Amino acid sequence: MTHPKTTGHIALVGAGPGARDLLTLRALERIRAADVLLYDRLVDPEIMELAPSGAERIYVGKDVGACKWPQGRIDRLIVAKAKLGLRVVRLKSGDPSIFGRACEEIAAARAAGIEVEIVPGITAASAAAASIGRPLTQRGETDTFVITTGTCKPGDASPDRARLAHPGTSMAFYMAVERAAQVQADLMGAGAPAACPVEIVTRASTPEERHVATTLGALSDTIIAEGIANPAILFIRYPKSLARALAGTGAVIAA
Ligand code: SAH
Repeated sequence: MTHPKTTGHIALVGAGPGARDLLTLRALERIRAADVLLYDRLVDPEIMELAPSGAERIYVGKDVGACKWPQGRIDRLIVAKAKLGLRVVRLKSGDPSIFGRACEEIAAARAAGIEVEIVPGITAASAAAASIGRPLTQRGETDTFVITTGTCKPGDASPDRARLAHPGTSMAFYMAVERAAQVQADLMGAGAPAACPVEIVTRASTPEERHVATTLGALSDTIIAEGIANPAILFIRYPKSLARALAGTGAVIAA
């Protein structure tokens, strides 16, 4: 699909987890056709190199001071650029639809009558699972896969984690490094065994990728001892066989 310059267009493009060969071909097409690109901290510089040399690049990362690029300012900027008739590419790490604040930008574009498109990307959990060679679900062991977060909108209550503490559940926690102690307490408080296997993958698909294996009971201590920092995915699994094994020993487990 090509977009004549006169109409303006906004594409929320999934930049994937880091490695540029995990971009989709559609993402590459949009990046190569961009007049303006807005990107943030998690978008790899290698991916920015794929854009035309004449395209305007605007860094809208939050690490330069949380107030510099509040979401409303980004929303207004992408709309203003598209109204000039430009092809605007808003690059987002992973998949724009997963913890990507895409709804705000879609709403702003629609309110201004501008065509908006989402180009899906490989989310961090998929990339991290692939890197460590451990699929997100396993027949007979985990029949439910949950994508969730350790960090919510300020003022919101944490997600109800008790409903996750059930045998057969495989969880991927985003933005959870700083909240690992709470996640651990919530899950164990709801009956998830301390022996639940945990894999921590930082900077998946990049040269700095790191993988640490631990258990739910040791999660928060491991994060401190290993100096784990964001961006990281915490995989926590409660396999059915673990529930059966613990039931056999008479240990207390979730229903
Ligand atoms: N839309 C993104 C998620 C953005 S929220 C996606 O679909 O992947 C930011 C969080 O994503 C980080 O705090 C971290 O938990 C996770 N993340 C992003 N890139 C990552 C990577 N390369 N390795 C591990 N975790 C990553």
